[in-house]
This record gives sequence, C-alpha cells and structure tokens, in this order.
Amino acid sequence: SKTLHIIGGGMAGSEAAWQAAHQGVQVVIHEMRPQVGTFAHRTGHLAEMVCSNSFRSDDHESNAVGLLHWEMRAAGGLIMEQAAVHRLPAGGALAVDRDPFAESVTARIKAHPLISVSYEEITELPDDGHWIIATGPLTSGALAESIRAATGAEALAFFDAIAPIVYAESVDMSVAWMQSRYDKGETAEEQTAYINCPLTREQYEDFIDALLAAEKTEFKEGETAGYFDGCLPIEVMAERGRETLRFGPMKPVGLTNPHQPDVKAYAVVQLRRDNKLGTLFNMVGFQTKMKYGAQTDVFKRIPGLTNASFARLGGIHRNTFINSPTLLDNQMRLKSHPHIRFAGQITGVEGYVESAAMGLLAGRMAAAEIKGETLLPPPPETATGALITHITGGAEAKTFQPMNVNFGLFPPINAKGGRRGRKDRYKAYTDRAKDAFTAWLG
Ligand code: FAD
Repeated sequence: SKTLHIIGGGMAGSEAAWQAAHQGVQVVIHEMRPQVGTFAHRTGHLAEMVCSNSFRSDDHESNAVGLLHWEMRAAGGLIMEQAAVHRLPAGGALAVDRDPFAESVTARIKAHPLISVSYEEITELPDDGHWIIATGPLTSGALAESIRAATGAEALAFFDAIAPIVYAESVDMSVAWMQSRYDKGETAEEQTAYINCPLTREQYEDFIDALLAAEKTEFKEGETAGYFDGCLPIEVMAERGRETLRFGPMKPVGLTNPHQPDVKAYAVVQLRRDNKLGTLFNMVGFQTKMKYGAQTDVFKRIPGLTNASFARLGGIHRNTFINSPTLLDNQMRLKSHPHIRFAGQITGVEGYVESAAMGLLAGRMAAAEIKGETLLPPPPETATGALITHITGGAEAKTFQPMNVNFGLFPPINAKGGRRGRKDRYKAYTDRAKDAFTAWLG
C-alpha cells in the first residue's frame, strides 16, 4: 500500500503527516489520546505542549534553535505556521497560547484531504507497510515493549540521565589537561577523549557546600520508579556523604596534572568527548536535578570551568528513546526493519522544536520513498542536518543521551584572521546554514 502510517500525533507526528501529505501522499495518524493518557498530557489535541509554552529563542541569526525555526518555516512547517498564528509576546522567545495552538494544529490536520486521524493505541510494531513511530518520551508501555523486543534491551532507554555538556573551546586548558585515566588507549583519538579539571581540598569542600545548597527540581510522582539503581544525581550522592563524590565520579586516581606534576589533586572532574568533531565534552557522572541557574553557579566553581559555556545543562527525566547511532540509518529507518522510521524525541533529540524538525524530515523522507524516490538528509551545516547527522552517526553510541540543537553539532567554521566575536561567528554559522538548507529544499 502507498499509505503512510504514523504512530503518535505529537510534535513530530503532526509535522511528519503535514509534510508527507504536501508531497501528495495519503497519511493515517494513529493517536492513543484521549482514550489512553500519559502523566504529562492533559488534552486529546494533537501537538500538545506538555510543559513550557515556549519554542525557545526565535533569533535565527545567532541561535541554533532559532535557526531551526527558520529552516522549518522555509520547509512550510505546520508547527511553525501555527506558532506564528498563536504567538504571545515573550521578548526574543517564540511563546504561544498552547491550547488554541494545539486546537489549530489538530484542525489543520483534520481538514487536509489526504490525512485522517485514527484514535487508538498501537501496541505492536507493524509487520509491513510504511510506518513512522513518533510516540515521544512517554511512549505507551506495550509499544515500548515491542520496540524493545525488536531492538534489544540495551538499545531502548526509559530515562535520560543527562550530564551537562560543555563547549570544548570554553574550557581553560591552562588549568585543565587532556589525559585518559591510567593513560588507557593507544590512538590519538583515545588520548584526547578526556579533559581533567583538578580541585584542591578547599575547592572540593566549597563545591560540595554549593552543591548541597543548590536549588533542585523535584521528581513527579511515578517518575522515578525503578530508576535510581545505576545513575544517582550528584547532589544525591553528596547528600549521602561529603566524600562520596571523591570516591565516585570525582576520584583523582590515575591522572597527573602536567601544569603541577608534583601536586596531587584532591578530586578531579572528568569531561569526556561527546561527539566525533571533538567540539563537545560531557561532565562524566554529573547527571543532576539541580535547577539550570544553580547548575551554572555550581559548575563555575570547578577550576577550568570558570568561563565554561554549556551546550546543554544536566537533567533526569522519564524519557523513552532508542540508541539511534546504532539502530537507524541516515534515512531514519530501523536498519533491522527498514519499513519503519522513527521520528521525534524517541530518536534521542530533545525538545518540541527538535522533535518537530525530525518529524518534518521523516515525513519528507517517507513520502519520497513511497513515490519511488530518495531524499538525502540536509547537510550537517544546517540545523536539521546537524541534528540528524548527530543522532544517526556523529554521537558516541555507548554514552548516547538526548541532545538539543546547538552550534557544537555543526562542522566548525575556522576563525581565519583572528578570533571573531561570538555573535559574528554564530552569524557565519547561520548564514552558511540558510544557504545550504535553501539548496537542499531546491
Ligand atoms: P509527543 O509530543 O509526546 O507526541 C507523542 C504522541 O504519541 C503523544 O500524543 C502520545 O499520546 C502518542 N502515543 C504514545 N504512545 C502511543 C501508542 N502506542 N499508540 C498511539 N499513540 C501513542 N520539551 C520542550 O521543548 N520544552 C519543555 O518544557 C518540555 N517539557 C517536558 C516535560 C515533560 C514532563 C516531558 C515528558 C517532556 C517535556 N519536553 C519538553 C519534551 C517534549 O515532550 C518533547 O520534546 C516533544 O513533545 C516531543 O515530541 P514528540 O512528537 O516526539 O512526542
């Protein structure tokens, strides 16, 4: 059959349906709400925003998520079209009136002659046909079980445990140094896999005090069930004892500080390379529920990170997502079951905008396939392309955690003729992206 079936009518599923229908393909969306609910959704509308009512920065000249807005508009995206209609004043952010927004997306979809919506929960991976799975962070249990059976237990996660990610260039290497513990690893790549930040006893005590005092986000009821085994937040570790971190993720063993070879560090924070480009590093073992403002305050106390800028801050959430770097091809198809694509947050992107962007891409790719064509992904110089390149290949598969769009995912622009100002540099990224995205659309 030439019909495209989409499971889940959230941000990604709605956008995927819209894009495919605009390519002339017949679409059925299978949405379980309102029959079956989730702990976060309140309505039966498509594209419901479950928490914040903001699509974040709309600055498409110097912000990566604003650039993603620009690209989605250029591609005729439904989510951006309706966000513009229901926009609320919010400075540089694209905030919307959430209920009318979701009602309009639903109405636009239902009015499209090529799209129909079937309100039902799908509980098993389909055997044949053309499918996109866009069931999001709160994918229903039965379907998650079926995905798990097809992909392997290791390849499907039910929580994210996100350690903060730092731009490599913002780490002060006159204080920090590169070395893997006990100098493990032969290749140059392995030897540049870790950055180490040393703390003296006073700095460690000060850090623990700040950590204990920091403001935390509370877990929602039912959110933590069966979770806390492997992956405690750092503040919980610190609450168990002031020394716990020093014998855990901050242990100073197997490392020699070349800046001060005679001084043994009291504790060390390790950062591990997070992408092949080497532009992003994550703070190893530093998953946290601290509020965002508190995280930057606390982490700036770590020597070497005084001026760090963060590509993303840490968090722990209920979040169903697959290990896309190992499971998906660059057409977003499950390698083992190529009639099934994945889109949205379940692919390991995070956020309304990123999820909708992955829906846009999956919808267009699936439509092309149904018409006997192949649509290549946009190049990594674009925001959409940077995301898809990251999740299907650029990210380290072993430590894969959900990712927001950010300039660290883009191929770096060489700052020839001296260091450009940050704003100019981001403008260079977004100019390059817009040209590349326009060419891809053409
Ligand atoms: P969703 O928008 O969740 O859509 C998935 C759809 O699939 C849902 O409608 C669901 O009912 C349906 N579904 C699930 N299983 C089945 C099934 N078996 N059969 C049929 N239908 C099914 N992002 C932000 O940008 N800002 C925030 O403030 C924010 N806060 C969040 C707070 C919480 C508590 C959670 C859980 C997530 C939050 N997110 C936030 C992430 C946000 O939910 C996602 O980025 C975005 O909604 C993902 O889009 P999606 O289309 O992948 O999934």
